[in-house]
Amino acid sequence: MLTFGRHPNSVIAALPAPSMIGSVARLGLASLVLSAASLLLTRFDGNIAFIWGNTGLVIAALSLRPRDQWRWLLPAFGVAMFAATACFGMGMAAAAPLLAATMTEATLPAWLLRRWEGRFFDRVTGVVMFLLIAGIIGPLIGAVIAASAISLLTDASWQRTAIRWFTSHGLGTITFTPLIMLLLRGDVGRWFQGPLRAQMGPFAVLGLVAAVVTGVFLQDGVPLLFLPMLPMLAATMLYVRIGAAGSILLLVAIGGLLSLSGHGPVHALPTPPLNRILFFQFYVGCAALLVLPVAALIKQHRQAIRDLSQSEARFRLLSDRSADVILEVAPDGTILHASPSVAQVAGQPPAYYLGQHGFTLVHPEDQHVLWRAHRQALANPDIAHIAQFRSPRETAEPTWFEAALRGLGGSAGQGLIVILRDISARKATELALEIAASTDPLTGLVNRRSFLQRLRNQIEHCRVGSSQGSVALVDLDHFKSVNDRFGHAVGDLALQAFARIAAATIDRRHCLARIGGEEFAILLVGINPKEAEATCERLREAVEQLKVELPSGMLEIESPRITASIGLTAVDPASDPATILNRADEALYRAKASGRNCVQVAD
Ligand code: GH3
Ligand code: MG
Ligand code: MG
Repeated sequence: MLTFGRHPNSVIAALPAPSMIGSVARLGLASLVLSAASLLLTRFDGNIAFIWGNTGLVIAALSLRPRDQWRWLLPAFGVAMFAATACFGMGMAAAAPLLAATMTEATLPAWLLRRWEGRFFDRVTGVVMFLLIAGIIGPLIGAVIAASAISLLTDASWQRTAIRWFTSHGLGTITFTPLIMLLLRGDVGRWFQGPLRAQMGPFAVLGLVAAVVTGVFLQDGVPLLFLPMLPMLAATMLYVRIGAAGSILLLVAIGGLLSLSGHGPVHALPTPPLNRILFFQFYVGCAALLVLPVAALIKQHRQAIRDLSQSEARFRLLSDRSADVILEVAPDGTILHASPSVAQVAGQPPAYYLGQHGFTLVHPEDQHVLWRAHRQALANPDIAHIAQFRSPRETAEPTWFEAALRGLGGSAGQGLIVILRDISARKATELALEIAASTDPLTGLVNRRSFLQRLRNQIEHCRVGSSQGSVALVDLDHFKSVNDRFGHAVGDLALQAFARIAAATIDRRHCLARIGGEEFAILLVGINPKEAEATCERLREAVEQLKVELPSGMLEIESPRITASIGLTAVDPASDPATILNRADEALYRAKASGRNCVQVAD
């Protein structure tokens, strides 16, 4: 069933849509008319038309129509050109080789331009490529093929034929392609359908071009050939592509017809007719070289301005609606623009910050962080640079900002864009997580991981001789029996009571940690081993005196008493944390072995 259903579909897909058939037929007809007109109207003293516009039509159509339409367009153009040459040109014998010449000079540039520069009249580089490929290379190839064929079929000279072919086809392509592209893209149609007032301007300027060209080419008293350039340039500047394409066409049509009919400065040149034609073609080529790049340049600039104003509009919308603060900052740090959200985030309305230095938003201690990111962003504008700093505002908890800075590129004189976000909540969470990761939840003391880190730091300090230190391991004696007698909850209370009394007994600069169930460690810093031993002894006595306070509901129980055994060792800068803890543990073992509730120092 499936294969049966697919077969007719694939046949239908291979056929062109009716609208496409119509469009291909119209283009074929246009090609026939244009070829016939070139041959009938401009082929006045030889075999080759003075201006050949059909290549422009073929290039324009092949450039604009989808690539898969080429298989329908190429035969249509082929038939049209063959018929025109056979009926109105050099006859049947020449039609096939001349068709090869015209098709090559049109399809090759169209194919190359499509590959490299899609909309080639919109960019100056595109225009230059068009002039080079379609205006010179294509016609040169066509000229070689055509001159070879014509010189074989007739007694015309190869060289003369080649030059005439090259100039007439080059000129025709340069003249017609821009206008036909506008027609095929519907730009001309839209212009005609637009309001009358909008049509008046181009009509008036192109009318002026027509009038000046007529005036210049009607008389031969004064050689005023430079004069049409002025209205042509004006038409191009005012109406860009329609102005440029229209004025080139007017120059060719009016100037060409008047010259051919025996008027004007070109006709009056004291040279043979062929040279006059060459001169006129060269003249029109120069005019096209003047206005087409100017049109592309203006188009490019208009597009850039449109892009810029769109991106400006996007930026303003973001800036106005964003919860983050968006700042524009000069290279020296002066705030040039602040988005409205600065009022909520930093406390003052945008106007307050304008003209102030960016440091207004930064805590004095953190200004160097922002300034470093600022310099990096100016030096390397391709990436965003991140800085975190506190706000100078006095609040219970500091307000933290994260700034993403990006240089505006180009020269360093263009400043930066900065996005500022309040990250206080995130910072508070980070801080809470950090505390949780380094603290023992039962006693609130530092945990084992954090203790080891501090011990590593202390080893480093001892290594550079900036401080001396000792490590004491404290293990509560017979703690199992505390649990057994009073219950686990009371055991917990005893651990908390120990933490409190130990913290109260030893100096704040030392680090007290819970490193196991009822095992604690103390990093004693800035005191010598003797003083460390005395501190441990004081702690041992304090624990011995401790009466663990019980909650009111448990007052009938006798308060548990605890004792601690302590092993002490000095921090040896040559050892690692594990070795130092092992030595302290050995001393602790000896303290347990010698009856508990005592301090032993490692050998
Ligand atoms: P000694 O160290 O003097 O040799 O005897 P001990 O009874 O303290 O020895 P041991 O290290 O074997 O037992 C430690 C006990 O500490 C076991 C466990 O019930 C108790 N313990 C460990 N962590 C906690 C805790 O978080 N809460 C309570 N209540 N007890 C704990
Ligand atoms: Mg133990
Ligand atoms: Mg114990």
